Amino acid sequence: MPLRDTAPKLSQEQYEKNFADITPAMTPRQAAIEAARCLYCFDAPCTIACPTHIDVPRFIKKISTGNLRGSAREILSANILGQSCGRVCPTEALCEGACVMHEKGEQAIEIGRLQRYAVDHVLDNKIELFHAGAPNGKRVACIGSGPASLACATELAKWGYEVTLFDRNEVPGGLNSYGIAAYKSRAAEAVREIDLVKQLGVKFRQRTDVGRDISFDELEHEFDAIFLGVGLGETWELNLPGENLHGVYGAIEFIEHTKVEPFHDVEVGRRVACIGAGNTAVDVVTAARRLGAEIVYLVYRRGEPEMPAFAYEYQLAKQDAVTFLWQTQPVRILGKDGYVCGLECVRTELGAPDDRGRRSPRLVPGTEFRIEVDMVVRAVGQQPVTDFLKPIKGVELNKDGTVKIDERHQTGDPKYFAGGDCTNGGKEVVDAVAEGMAAARGLDKWLGVPRG
Ligand SMILES: Cc1cc2nc3c(=O)[nH]c(=O)nc-3n(C[C@H](O)[C@H](O)[C@H](O)COP(=O)(O)OP(=O)(O)OC[C@H]3O[C@@H](n4cnc5c(N)ncnc54)[C@H](O)[C@@H]3O)c2cc1C
Ligand code: SF4
Repeated sequence: MPLRDTAPKLSQEQYEKNFADITPAMTPRQAAIEAARCLYCFDAPCTIACPTHIDVPRFIKKISTGNLRGSAREILSANILGQSCGRVCPTEALCEGACVMHEKGEQAIEIGRLQRYAVDHVLDNKIELFHAGAPNGKRVACIGSGPASLACATELAKWGYEVTLFDRNEVPGGLNSYGIAAYKSRAAEAVREIDLVKQLGVKFRQRTDVGRDISFDELEHEFDAIFLGVGLGETWELNLPGENLHGVYGAIEFIEHTKVEPFHDVEVGRRVACIGAGNTAVDVVTAARRLGAEIVYLVYRRGEPEMPAFAYEYQLAKQDAVTFLWQTQPVRILGKDGYVCGLECVRTELGAPDDRGRRSPRLVPGTEFRIEVDMVVRAVGQQPVTDFLKPIKGVELNKDGTVKIDERHQTGDPKYFAGGDCTNGGKEVVDAVAEGMAAARGLDKWLGVPRG
Protein backbone atom coordinates (compact mmCIF):
# COMPACT_ATOMS: atom_id res chain seq x y z
CA MET A 1 0.00 0.00 0.00
CA PRO A 2 1.79 3.21 -1.06
CA LEU A 3 1.17 5.90 1.56
CA ARG A 4 2.68 9.31 2.33
CA ASP A 5 3.23 8.47 5.99
CA THR A 6 2.64 5.17 7.73
CA ALA A 7 1.92 4.23 11.33
CA PRO A 8 4.93 2.94 13.27
CA LYS A 9 5.16 -0.86 13.38
CA LEU A 10 4.23 -2.62 16.61
CA SER A 11 5.77 -5.72 18.16
CA GLN A 12 4.30 -9.09 17.11
CA GLU A 13 3.12 -9.55 20.67
CA GLN A 14 1.26 -6.23 20.56
CA TYR A 15 -0.47 -7.08 17.26
CA GLU A 16 -1.64 -10.40 18.67
CA LYS A 17 -2.93 -8.62 21.78
CA ASN A 18 -4.74 -6.00 19.69
CA PHE A 19 -6.38 -8.61 17.46
CA ALA A 20 -7.10 -11.20 20.17
CA ASP A 21 -10.61 -12.72 20.15
CA ILE A 22 -13.10 -10.20 21.53
CA THR A 23 -15.26 -13.10 22.70
CA PRO A 24 -12.71 -15.69 23.83
CA ALA A 25 -13.43 -19.42 23.92
CA MET A 26 -15.09 -20.73 27.07
CA THR A 27 -13.40 -23.13 29.46
CA PRO A 28 -15.38 -26.34 30.30
CA ARG A 29 -16.24 -24.85 33.69
CA GLN A 30 -17.48 -21.56 32.21
CA ALA A 31 -19.56 -23.47 29.65
CA ALA A 32 -21.10 -25.71 32.32
CA ILE A 33 -22.03 -22.73 34.51
CA GLU A 34 -23.48 -20.77 31.57
CA ALA A 35 -25.42 -23.77 30.21
CA ALA A 36 -26.93 -24.32 33.67
CA ARG A 37 -28.37 -20.77 33.62
CA CYS A 38 -30.55 -21.55 30.56
CA LEU A 39 -34.27 -21.92 31.33
CA TYR A 40 -34.84 -24.21 28.29
CA CYS A 41 -37.86 -22.20 27.22
CA PHE A 42 -40.69 -23.78 25.28
CA ASP A 43 -41.09 -22.03 21.88
CA ALA A 44 -37.76 -20.43 22.70
CA PRO A 45 -37.55 -16.84 21.44
CA CYS A 46 -33.81 -17.26 20.77
CA THR A 47 -34.53 -20.07 18.30
CA ILE A 48 -37.19 -17.97 16.59
CA ALA A 49 -34.83 -14.98 16.40
CA CYS A 50 -32.04 -17.04 14.81
CA PRO A 51 -32.37 -16.92 10.99
CA THR A 52 -31.27 -20.60 10.82
CA HIS A 53 -33.56 -21.52 13.76
CA ILE A 54 -30.98 -23.55 15.63
CA ASP A 55 -32.73 -25.33 18.53
CA VAL A 56 -30.85 -23.34 21.13
CA PRO A 57 -32.31 -24.85 24.35
CA ARG A 58 -31.65 -28.34 22.98
CA PHE A 59 -28.01 -27.73 22.15
CA ILE A 60 -27.44 -25.99 25.47
CA LYS A 61 -29.10 -28.87 27.35
CA LYS A 62 -26.68 -31.26 25.66
CA ILE A 63 -23.74 -29.16 26.77
CA SER A 64 -25.00 -29.30 30.34
CA THR A 65 -25.11 -33.11 30.19
CA GLY A 66 -21.61 -33.29 28.73
CA ASN A 67 -22.82 -34.46 25.30
CA LEU A 68 -20.74 -32.05 23.21
CA ARG A 69 -20.88 -34.19 20.10
CA GLY A 70 -24.70 -34.29 20.24
CA SER A 71 -24.79 -30.56 20.91
CA ALA A 72 -22.60 -29.82 17.89
CA ARG A 73 -24.74 -32.13 15.74
CA GLU A 74 -27.84 -30.17 16.80
CA ILE A 75 -26.16 -26.89 15.83
CA LEU A 76 -24.53 -28.01 12.61
CA SER A 77 -27.56 -29.74 11.17
CA ALA A 78 -29.33 -26.38 11.29
CA ASN A 79 -26.29 -24.30 10.33
CA ILE A 80 -23.10 -25.83 8.97
CA LEU A 81 -21.21 -22.60 9.79
CA GLY A 82 -22.20 -22.85 13.46
CA GLN A 83 -18.63 -22.21 14.56
CA SER A 84 -18.25 -18.99 12.57
CA CYS A 85 -21.73 -17.85 13.51
CA GLY A 86 -20.94 -18.42 17.18
CA ARG A 87 -18.11 -15.92 16.75
CA VAL A 88 -19.44 -13.38 14.24
CA CYS A 89 -23.24 -13.27 14.58
CA PRO A 90 -24.61 -9.97 15.89
CA THR A 91 -26.10 -12.01 18.75
CA GLU A 92 -27.28 -8.89 20.61
CA ALA A 93 -29.63 -8.23 17.71
CA LEU A 94 -30.57 -11.90 17.19
CA CYS A 95 -30.72 -14.87 19.61
CA GLU A 96 -29.25 -13.21 22.70
CA GLY A 97 -31.32 -10.09 22.09
CA ALA A 98 -34.46 -12.26 22.34
CA CYS A 99 -33.36 -14.14 25.50
CA VAL A 100 -36.00 -14.12 28.27
CA MET A 101 -33.28 -13.32 30.80
CA HIS A 102 -33.60 -9.67 29.75
CA GLU A 103 -37.14 -9.66 31.17
CA LYS A 104 -35.75 -10.84 34.52
CA GLY A 105 -33.20 -8.04 34.46
CA GLU A 106 -30.37 -10.56 34.07
CA GLN A 107 -27.67 -10.94 31.47
CA ALA A 108 -28.72 -12.94 28.38
CA ILE A 109 -27.35 -16.47 28.04
CA GLU A 110 -24.13 -16.33 26.04
CA ILE A 111 -25.53 -18.39 23.18
CA GLY A 112 -22.83 -17.50 20.64
CA ARG A 113 -19.98 -18.53 22.92
CA LEU A 114 -21.71 -21.77 23.96
CA GLN A 115 -22.32 -22.57 20.32
CA ARG A 116 -18.68 -22.04 19.51
CA TYR A 117 -17.69 -24.16 22.53
CA ALA A 118 -19.67 -27.17 21.28
CA VAL A 119 -18.59 -26.92 17.63
CA ASP A 120 -14.93 -26.34 18.53
CA HIS A 121 -15.06 -29.73 20.26
CA VAL A 122 -15.86 -31.59 17.01
CA LEU A 123 -13.44 -29.48 14.96
CA ASP A 124 -10.57 -29.86 17.45
CA ASN A 125 -11.13 -33.60 17.66
CA LYS A 126 -11.83 -34.01 13.93
CA ILE A 127 -15.11 -35.78 14.66
CA GLU A 128 -17.07 -36.64 11.52
CA LEU A 129 -20.74 -35.92 12.03
CA PHE A 130 -22.35 -36.05 8.61
CA HIS A 131 -22.17 -38.31 5.59
CA ALA A 132 -23.10 -37.77 1.97
CA GLY A 133 -26.44 -39.23 0.90
CA ALA A 134 -26.64 -42.13 -1.56
CA PRO A 135 -25.84 -40.63 -5.02
CA ASN A 136 -29.02 -39.54 -6.82
CA GLY A 137 -27.27 -38.97 -10.15
CA LYS A 138 -27.83 -35.18 -10.18
CA ARG A 139 -25.05 -32.63 -10.36
CA VAL A 140 -25.17 -29.06 -9.05
CA ALA A 141 -22.68 -26.20 -9.47
CA CYS A 142 -22.47 -23.45 -6.85
CA ILE A 143 -20.84 -20.22 -7.98
CA GLY A 144 -18.96 -18.74 -5.04
CA SER A 145 -17.71 -20.54 -1.95
CA GLY A 146 -19.03 -18.09 0.63
CA PRO A 147 -21.53 -18.95 3.39
CA ALA A 148 -24.53 -19.12 1.01
CA SER A 149 -22.90 -21.64 -1.34
CA LEU A 150 -21.36 -23.65 1.52
CA ALA A 151 -24.77 -24.04 3.17
CA CYS A 152 -26.51 -24.87 -0.13
CA ALA A 153 -23.83 -27.43 -1.04
CA THR A 154 -24.01 -29.08 2.40
CA GLU A 155 -27.74 -29.68 2.22
CA LEU A 156 -27.58 -30.98 -1.34
CA ALA A 157 -24.66 -33.32 -0.61
CA LYS A 158 -26.52 -34.80 2.36
CA TRP A 159 -29.37 -35.62 -0.03
CA GLY A 160 -27.09 -37.36 -2.54
CA TYR A 161 -26.31 -34.58 -5.03
CA GLU A 162 -22.83 -34.28 -6.51
CA VAL A 163 -21.87 -30.66 -5.82
CA THR A 164 -18.96 -28.58 -7.13
CA LEU A 165 -18.17 -25.06 -5.89
CA PHE A 166 -16.42 -22.58 -8.20
CA ASP A 167 -14.74 -19.56 -6.64
CA ARG A 168 -12.28 -17.02 -7.97
CA ASN A 169 -10.46 -16.66 -4.66
CA GLU A 170 -7.50 -18.73 -3.54
CA VAL A 171 -9.12 -19.67 -0.24
CA PRO A 172 -12.76 -20.77 0.16
CA GLY A 173 -15.20 -19.06 2.52
CA GLY A 174 -16.01 -15.78 0.74
CA LEU A 175 -16.20 -12.78 3.06
CA ASN A 176 -16.28 -15.10 6.05
CA SER A 177 -12.60 -15.80 5.26
CA TYR A 178 -11.64 -12.46 3.69
CA GLY A 179 -13.90 -9.80 5.22
CA ILE A 180 -14.77 -10.31 8.86
CA ALA A 181 -12.75 -8.36 11.44
CA ALA A 182 -9.74 -10.42 12.55
CA TYR A 183 -10.59 -9.99 16.25
CA LYS A 184 -13.90 -11.79 15.61
CA SER A 185 -12.56 -14.60 13.45
CA ARG A 186 -9.31 -15.36 11.64
CA ALA A 187 -9.33 -16.72 8.08
CA ALA A 188 -7.80 -19.99 9.32
CA GLU A 189 -10.81 -20.57 11.61
CA ALA A 190 -13.25 -20.07 8.74
CA VAL A 191 -11.24 -22.41 6.53
CA ARG A 192 -10.95 -25.25 9.07
CA GLU A 193 -14.73 -25.23 9.46
CA ILE A 194 -15.05 -25.88 5.72
CA ASP A 195 -13.64 -29.37 6.33
CA LEU A 196 -17.15 -30.25 7.50
CA VAL A 197 -18.38 -29.50 3.97
CA LYS A 198 -15.47 -31.34 2.34
CA GLN A 199 -16.28 -34.43 4.45
CA LEU A 200 -19.52 -34.65 2.47
CA GLY A 201 -17.58 -35.04 -0.78
CA VAL A 202 -18.30 -31.50 -2.02
CA LYS A 203 -15.63 -30.48 -4.57
CA PHE A 204 -13.97 -27.07 -4.54
CA ARG A 205 -12.58 -25.39 -7.65
CA GLN A 206 -10.86 -22.29 -6.28
CA ARG A 207 -9.12 -19.73 -8.50
CA THR A 208 -11.85 -20.25 -11.11
CA ASP A 209 -13.64 -17.13 -12.26
CA VAL A 210 -17.01 -18.11 -13.70
CA GLY A 211 -17.73 -16.14 -16.85
CA ARG A 212 -14.00 -15.88 -17.60
CA ASP A 213 -12.33 -19.25 -16.86
CA ILE A 214 -15.47 -21.28 -17.42
CA SER A 215 -18.61 -20.18 -19.27
CA PHE A 216 -22.21 -20.47 -18.18
CA ASP A 217 -22.83 -22.63 -21.28
CA GLU A 218 -20.23 -25.12 -20.06
CA LEU A 219 -21.75 -25.18 -16.58
CA GLU A 220 -25.27 -25.63 -17.97
CA HIS A 221 -24.03 -28.52 -20.06
CA GLU A 222 -22.26 -30.22 -17.16
CA PHE A 223 -24.74 -29.58 -14.31
CA ASP A 224 -28.47 -30.11 -13.74
CA ALA A 225 -28.84 -26.88 -11.75
CA ILE A 226 -26.70 -23.89 -10.75
CA PHE A 227 -26.74 -21.91 -7.49
CA LEU A 228 -25.55 -18.30 -7.55
CA GLY A 229 -23.92 -17.41 -4.23
CA VAL A 230 -21.75 -14.66 -5.68
CA GLY A 231 -22.11 -12.06 -2.93
CA LEU A 232 -21.55 -8.38 -3.63
CA GLY A 233 -18.59 -6.59 -5.15
CA GLU A 234 -16.23 -3.80 -4.26
CA THR A 235 -17.09 -0.78 -2.11
CA TRP A 236 -19.01 2.00 -3.88
CA GLU A 237 -16.92 4.89 -5.18
CA LEU A 238 -17.41 8.29 -3.53
CA ASN A 239 -17.07 10.32 -6.75
CA LEU A 240 -14.95 12.88 -4.94
CA PRO A 241 -12.10 14.86 -6.50
CA GLY A 242 -8.83 13.19 -5.47
CA GLU A 243 -10.24 9.67 -5.24
CA ASN A 244 -7.51 8.32 -7.54
CA LEU A 245 -4.66 9.46 -5.25
CA HIS A 246 -2.33 6.89 -3.65
CA GLY A 247 -3.71 6.14 -0.21
CA VAL A 248 -7.44 5.86 -1.07
CA TYR A 249 -8.80 2.36 -0.46
CA GLY A 250 -12.05 0.50 -0.46
CA ALA A 251 -13.04 -0.98 2.91
CA ILE A 252 -13.07 -4.58 1.67
CA GLU A 253 -9.62 -4.19 0.10
CA PHE A 254 -8.16 -2.79 3.33
CA ILE A 255 -9.77 -5.39 5.59
CA GLU A 256 -8.70 -8.19 3.26
CA HIS A 257 -5.05 -7.21 3.86
CA THR A 258 -5.58 -7.69 7.60
CA LYS A 259 -6.99 -11.17 6.92
CA VAL A 260 -4.47 -12.56 4.46
CA GLU A 261 -1.19 -10.87 5.46
CA PRO A 262 0.74 -10.94 8.73
CA PHE A 263 -0.33 -7.82 10.69
CA HIS A 264 3.24 -6.55 10.55
CA ASP A 265 3.08 -6.35 6.74
CA VAL A 266 -0.18 -4.42 6.53
CA GLU A 267 0.56 -0.76 5.86
CA VAL A 268 -1.74 1.73 7.51
CA GLY A 269 -1.57 5.51 7.50
CA ARG A 270 -0.35 7.37 10.56
CA ARG A 271 -3.62 9.34 10.29
CA VAL A 272 -6.63 7.69 8.69
CA ALA A 273 -10.11 8.89 7.69
CA CYS A 274 -12.86 6.38 7.09
CA ILE A 275 -15.96 7.61 5.29
CA GLY A 276 -19.20 5.89 6.34
CA ALA A 277 -20.70 4.76 9.64
CA GLY A 278 -21.98 1.20 9.10
CA ASN A 279 -20.58 -2.00 10.60
CA THR A 280 -17.93 -2.19 7.89
CA ALA A 281 -16.76 1.35 8.74
CA VAL A 282 -16.38 0.25 12.36
CA ASP A 283 -14.31 -2.73 11.20
CA VAL A 284 -12.07 -0.33 9.27
CA VAL A 285 -11.51 2.18 12.06
CA THR A 286 -10.91 -0.46 14.73
CA ALA A 287 -8.51 -2.36 12.45
CA ALA A 288 -6.62 0.87 11.65
CA ARG A 289 -6.26 1.74 15.36
CA ARG A 290 -5.22 -1.80 16.28
CA LEU A 291 -2.58 -1.75 13.53
CA GLY A 292 -1.11 1.35 15.15
CA ALA A 293 -2.66 4.35 13.36
CA GLU A 294 -2.30 7.32 15.69
CA ILE A 295 -5.43 9.27 14.71
CA VAL A 296 -8.43 7.64 13.09
CA TYR A 297 -11.48 9.65 12.06
CA LEU A 298 -14.88 8.22 11.26
CA VAL A 299 -16.55 10.75 8.98
CA TYR A 300 -20.34 10.61 8.65
CA ARG A 301 -22.68 13.08 6.99
CA ARG A 302 -25.52 12.37 9.43
CA GLY A 303 -25.44 12.40 13.25
CA GLU A 304 -24.70 9.82 15.94
CA PRO A 305 -28.40 8.80 16.31
CA GLU A 306 -28.57 7.98 12.59
CA MET A 307 -25.41 5.83 12.62
CA PRO A 308 -26.34 2.53 10.91
CA ALA A 309 -23.77 0.37 12.78
CA PHE A 310 -25.00 -1.88 15.61
CA ALA A 311 -24.68 -0.25 19.05
CA TYR A 312 -22.09 -2.76 20.26
CA GLU A 313 -19.99 -2.21 17.12
CA TYR A 314 -20.05 1.54 17.83
CA GLN A 315 -18.98 0.76 21.36
CA LEU A 316 -15.90 -1.04 20.00
CA ALA A 317 -14.90 2.01 17.97
CA LYS A 318 -15.34 4.23 21.03
CA GLN A 319 -13.16 1.91 23.12
CA ASP A 320 -10.48 2.16 20.43
CA ALA A 321 -10.44 5.96 20.79
CA VAL A 322 -11.66 6.73 17.30
CA THR A 323 -12.52 10.37 16.58
CA PHE A 324 -16.08 10.74 15.29
CA LEU A 325 -16.85 13.58 12.91
CA TRP A 326 -20.66 13.65 12.87
CA GLN A 327 -22.65 15.74 10.39
CA THR A 328 -19.57 16.08 8.25
CA GLN A 329 -19.54 15.68 4.49
CA PRO A 330 -16.19 15.08 2.76
CA VAL A 331 -16.01 17.13 -0.44
CA ARG A 332 -12.44 16.64 -1.68
CA ILE A 333 -9.48 14.36 -1.00
CA LEU A 334 -6.35 16.48 -0.87
CA GLY A 335 -3.08 15.28 -2.34
CA LYS A 336 0.61 16.08 -2.49
CA ASP A 337 2.90 14.47 -5.09
CA GLY A 338 0.14 12.00 -5.91
CA TYR A 339 -0.36 10.87 -2.28
CA VAL A 340 -3.25 11.58 0.06
CA CYS A 341 -2.41 14.35 2.52
CA GLY A 342 -5.81 15.47 3.76
CA LEU A 343 -9.56 15.59 3.50
CA GLU A 344 -11.66 18.69 2.94
CA CYS A 345 -15.02 18.55 4.67
CA VAL A 346 -18.12 20.70 5.20
CA ARG A 347 -20.50 20.55 8.15
CA THR A 348 -24.07 19.48 7.45
CA GLU A 349 -27.47 20.13 8.96
CA LEU A 350 -30.21 17.53 8.80
CA GLY A 351 -33.65 18.05 7.27
CA ALA A 352 -36.94 16.55 8.42
CA PRO A 353 -37.22 12.73 8.21
CA ASP A 354 -38.43 11.41 4.82
CA ASP A 355 -40.91 8.51 4.26
CA ARG A 356 -38.27 6.03 5.43
CA GLY A 357 -37.40 8.14 8.47
CA ARG A 358 -34.07 9.22 6.92
CA ARG A 359 -32.99 12.80 7.47
CA SER A 360 -31.26 14.30 4.43
CA PRO A 361 -28.06 16.18 5.14
CA ARG A 362 -27.57 19.70 3.67
CA LEU A 363 -24.19 21.39 3.44
CA VAL A 364 -23.80 24.45 5.68
CA PRO A 365 -22.01 27.18 3.68
CA GLY A 366 -18.94 28.68 5.30
CA THR A 367 -18.20 25.65 7.52
CA GLU A 368 -15.46 24.12 5.34
CA PHE A 369 -12.50 22.66 7.23
CA ARG A 370 -9.58 20.32 6.52
CA ILE A 371 -8.09 17.40 8.38
CA GLU A 372 -4.60 16.07 7.76
CA VAL A 373 -4.64 12.37 6.88
CA ASP A 374 -2.40 9.91 5.00
CA MET A 375 -5.07 7.38 4.13
CA VAL A 376 -8.75 7.55 3.21
CA VAL A 377 -10.97 4.46 3.30
CA ARG A 378 -14.37 4.33 1.60
CA ALA A 379 -16.87 2.32 3.66
CA VAL A 380 -20.16 3.32 2.04
CA GLY A 381 -21.50 -0.13 1.16
CA GLN A 382 -20.74 -2.74 -1.47
CA GLN A 383 -21.97 -2.55 -5.04
CA PRO A 384 -23.63 -5.57 -6.64
CA VAL A 385 -21.46 -7.04 -9.40
CA THR A 386 -23.92 -8.96 -11.41
CA ASP A 387 -23.05 -7.71 -14.92
CA PHE A 388 -21.38 -11.04 -15.57
CA LEU A 389 -24.79 -12.70 -15.15
CA LYS A 390 -26.21 -10.83 -18.15
CA PRO A 391 -25.38 -13.66 -20.64
CA ILE A 392 -27.92 -15.83 -18.79
CA LYS A 393 -31.16 -14.91 -20.54
CA GLY A 394 -33.79 -15.51 -17.84
CA VAL A 395 -31.88 -14.25 -14.79
CA GLU A 396 -33.30 -10.84 -13.94
CA LEU A 397 -31.94 -8.19 -11.62
CA ASN A 398 -33.82 -5.92 -9.23
CA LYS A 399 -33.43 -2.13 -9.48
CA ASP A 400 -30.67 -2.18 -6.87
CA GLY A 401 -28.70 -4.77 -8.88
CA THR A 402 -29.52 -7.75 -6.65
CA VAL A 403 -30.63 -11.00 -8.29
CA LYS A 404 -34.40 -11.43 -8.55
CA ILE A 405 -35.70 -14.67 -7.01
CA ASP A 406 -39.05 -16.18 -6.05
CA GLU A 407 -39.96 -17.77 -2.71
CA ARG A 408 -38.08 -20.96 -3.70
CA HIS A 409 -34.96 -18.90 -4.45
CA GLN A 410 -35.38 -19.71 -8.14
CA THR A 411 -34.46 -17.03 -10.70
CA GLY A 412 -36.24 -16.27 -14.00
CA ASP A 413 -34.17 -19.06 -15.59
CA PRO A 414 -35.46 -22.21 -13.82
CA LYS A 415 -32.04 -23.86 -13.86
CA TYR A 416 -30.58 -21.05 -11.73
CA PHE A 417 -31.18 -20.50 -8.01
CA ALA A 418 -29.62 -17.76 -5.88
CA GLY A 419 -29.18 -16.63 -2.28
CA GLY A 420 -27.03 -14.72 0.20
CA ASP A 421 -25.74 -11.18 -0.21
CA CYS A 422 -26.34 -11.20 -3.98
CA THR A 423 -30.09 -11.44 -3.36
CA ASN A 424 -30.55 -9.75 0.04
CA GLY A 425 -28.25 -6.80 -0.72
CA GLY A 426 -25.82 -7.57 2.14
CA LYS A 427 -26.80 -8.93 5.55
CA GLU A 428 -24.99 -11.31 7.92
CA VAL A 429 -23.30 -14.71 7.60
CA VAL A 430 -26.23 -16.42 9.33
CA ASP A 431 -28.68 -14.94 6.79
CA ALA A 432 -26.57 -16.18 3.88
CA VAL A 433 -26.53 -19.67 5.46
CA ALA A 434 -30.31 -19.64 5.94
CA GLU A 435 -30.82 -18.53 2.34
CA GLY A 436 -28.37 -21.07 0.91
CA MET A 437 -30.28 -23.81 2.73
CA ALA A 438 -33.65 -22.48 1.53
CA ALA A 439 -32.33 -22.43 -2.05
CA ALA A 440 -31.18 -26.05 -1.66
CA ARG A 441 -34.72 -27.02 -0.63
CA GLY A 442 -36.17 -25.09 -3.59
CA LEU A 443 -33.71 -26.66 -6.01
CA ASP A 444 -34.37 -30.15 -4.65
CA LYS A 445 -38.11 -29.64 -5.03
CA TRP A 446 -37.64 -28.41 -8.61
CA LEU A 447 -35.46 -31.33 -9.66
CA GLY A 448 -37.95 -33.62 -7.92
CA VAL A 449 -35.51 -36.41 -7.11
CA PRO A 450 -37.18 -39.07 -4.94
CA ARG A 451 -35.28 -39.70 -1.70
CA GLY A 452 -34.14 -43.21 -0.77
C1 LIG B 1 -16.17 -5.94 6.05
C2 LIG B 1 -17.27 -6.88 6.34
C3 LIG B 1 -17.45 -7.32 7.64
C4 LIG B 1 -18.49 -8.21 7.94
N1 LIG B 1 -18.64 -8.61 9.23
C5 LIG B 1 -19.64 -9.47 9.54
C6 LIG B 1 -19.80 -9.93 10.87
O1 LIG B 1 -19.08 -9.51 11.79
N2 LIG B 1 -20.78 -10.83 11.11
C7 LIG B 1 -21.60 -11.33 10.12
O2 LIG B 1 -22.44 -12.19 10.39
N3 LIG B 1 -21.47 -10.89 8.85
C8 LIG B 1 -20.51 -9.98 8.53
N4 LIG B 1 -20.38 -9.54 7.24
C9 LIG B 1 -21.33 -10.00 6.23
C10 LIG B 1 -21.00 -11.42 5.71
O3 LIG B 1 -19.62 -11.56 5.49
C11 LIG B 1 -21.78 -11.69 4.43
O4 LIG B 1 -23.16 -11.44 4.67
C12 LIG B 1 -21.62 -13.14 3.95
O5 LIG B 1 -20.27 -13.48 3.77
C13 LIG B 1 -22.38 -13.32 2.62
O6 LIG B 1 -22.17 -14.60 2.12
P1 LIG B 1 -22.34 -14.92 0.55
O7 LIG B 1 -22.01 -16.36 0.41
O8 LIG B 1 -23.66 -14.44 0.10
O9 LIG B 1 -21.26 -14.01 -0.18
P2 LIG B 1 -19.68 -13.87 -0.03
O10 LIG B 1 -19.24 -14.22 1.34
O11 LIG B 1 -19.36 -12.51 -0.54
O12 LIG B 1 -19.11 -14.96 -1.04
C14 LIG B 1 -19.25 -14.82 -2.43
C15 LIG B 1 -18.13 -15.57 -3.11
O13 LIG B 1 -18.42 -15.63 -4.52
C16 LIG B 1 -17.22 -15.49 -5.23
N5 LIG B 1 -17.54 -15.05 -6.59
C17 LIG B 1 -18.23 -13.95 -6.97
N6 LIG B 1 -18.33 -13.91 -8.32
C18 LIG B 1 -17.69 -15.00 -8.79
C19 LIG B 1 -17.43 -15.50 -10.09
N7 LIG B 1 -17.86 -14.88 -11.20
N8 LIG B 1 -16.71 -16.65 -10.22
C20 LIG B 1 -16.25 -17.30 -9.12
N9 LIG B 1 -16.46 -16.85 -7.87
C21 LIG B 1 -17.17 -15.73 -7.70
C22 LIG B 1 -16.43 -14.48 -4.42
O14 LIG B 1 -15.05 -14.61 -4.71
C23 LIG B 1 -16.78 -14.90 -2.99
O15 LIG B 1 -15.84 -15.83 -2.50
C24 LIG B 1 -19.36 -8.65 6.92
C25 LIG B 1 -19.18 -8.19 5.61
C26 LIG B 1 -18.16 -7.31 5.33
C27 LIG B 1 -18.01 -6.79 3.94
S1 SF4 C 1 -26.43 -18.94 14.52
FE1 SF4 C 1 -26.09 -16.90 15.36
S2 SF4 C 1 -28.16 -16.07 15.72
FE2 SF4 C 1 -28.36 -18.30 15.46
S3 SF4 C 1 -28.29 -19.12 17.59
FE3 SF4 C 1 -26.21 -19.18 16.76
S4 SF4 C 1 -25.22 -17.26 17.43
FE4 SF4 C 1 -27.46 -17.02 17.65
